[in-house]
Amino acid sequence: MPVSTIIALSTPPGVGAIGTIRLSGPDAIAIVDRIFAGKKLSDQPSHTLHFGRILDRGTEGSDGPQPEIVDEVVVGLFRAPNSYTGEDIAEISCHGSPYILQRVMELCVEAGAVPAKAGEFTQRAFLHGKLDLTQAEAVGDLIAAESKAAQQSAMHQLRGGFSAELQAMREELITFSALIELELDFSQEDVEFADRTKLFELLDRIGASTAQLINSFKLGNAVKNGVSVAIIGAPNAGKSTLLNALLNEERAIVSDIAGTTRDTIEEVLNIEGIRFRFIDTAGIRSHTDDVIEQQGIARSRKKAEEADIVLYLFDVASGDPASLASSTEWLRSLDKPYLFLLNKTDAASAHFDAPENALAISAMTGAGMEQLKQSLIRFVLTDAVKPGDTIITNTRHLAALQKIAAAIIDIKAGLNDDIPGDLVALDIRQALHYIGELTGQVQTDRDILGTIFGKFCIGK
Ligand code: GDP
Repeated sequence: MPVSTIIALSTPPGVGAIGTIRLSGPDAIAIVDRIFAGKKLSDQPSHTLHFGRILDRGTEGSDGPQPEIVDEVVVGLFRAPNSYTGEDIAEISCHGSPYILQRVMELCVEAGAVPAKAGEFTQRAFLHGKLDLTQAEAVGDLIAAESKAAQQSAMHQLRGGFSAELQAMREELITFSALIELELDFSQEDVEFADRTKLFELLDRIGASTAQLINSFKLGNAVKNGVSVAIIGAPNAGKSTLLNALLNEERAIVSDIAGTTRDTIEEVLNIEGIRFRFIDTAGIRSHTDDVIEQQGIARSRKKAEEADIVLYLFDVASGDPASLASSTEWLRSLDKPYLFLLNKTDAASAHFDAPENALAISAMTGAGMEQLKQSLIRFVLTDAVKPGDTIITNTRHLAALQKIAAAIIDIKAGLNDDIPGDLVALDIRQALHYIGELTGQVQTDRDILGTIFGKFCIGK
């Protein structure tokens, strides 16, 4: 997908002496050129300011109306990669009337710009490596902006700055790499400069750190994107009633006729700062001639497969306990957290042995709702993450960390198998590269050379 050019007002809304509109992206300068009368901006160098007029060319034609001057402005140009976002940036400083600013923004959008999402400039800066990962606090701010509750509870666990720690370990690893490469230079003499015990200890530390960060992703992702929960079960098991009980409102249509909830309904509930997205689905029923209902069944299975957590609702008053057993098998095969909710316990008590992972509730009276919420939060807040731990929320980070973890395992395996030094060095370089990718420093080779020449002065 081509990268869009985003636009936003960078100064606070309201009347001011000057208001600045910022565009970032491959077409930033070309877009402003389209509405700008003055020098051709596309021909101007980076880090320059240009006075000119913003024109609304409207229906301008050979004999059409004259273009209207919207404002006299100064446009600042910052070309990639030397800009805040790392992309081409054009900043239009207008007179600070909200009307003018709005008009200029609209003209830019007509000329191809896309209104930026909250924090998108900073996000782009981050993706282009303009912000060090220690500045991931900014990403934290973004997340906070998306969910106020997340800020109050889960946010206290969010800490930016994991790149500093990894960076420090990378420096240590570079030293080892340099020492091992130095050994290669003295291969005839069979010397060992790199202390293997210390190297192992360092690898363990890097391994533990990356593992902690990888484990934190589940929570990080939950905080950022919410957790999807599929509510499934036979028609009339009480899915809509449960959703209403959880949300304390009559949103889903409740009815006595089996199969009324045909479409899926999504509702969001905040539990301790984590957004749970509940998906109400058509009932899962094994035999039905109703075609629409069958589509509904396929959909519920699909929803359960796509959800992070599955709640299987079972009517203890009239449900068939045999179906519980067969569902257990299916739920296990999904390989994700699930919970049986034995519903309608106000009307009947269970006349069978409750399966594992079962919670007795009454969607009608609200009994068991607190326990249900606690179970849901426990699925997310696993022991893997302790308060104060750094939490990652970014899939790019996750992918990089997984590569680092794998590379560390490779180095250890190589050392254990006593493979030749040059291969160990190669594995280490690979790990350094991945860590560098994460922290934004991928000049591995130059770093290693720098260390050799800087620290060891072997004068070769
Ligand atoms: P769905 O088809 O799974 O969405 O089921 P509904 O939520 O529409 O509920 C079907 C019927 O069961 C309705 O008449 C509800 O009032 C009733 N029902 C739902 N939960 C309970 C409960 O906990 N106790 C009792 N006694 N009835 C319930």
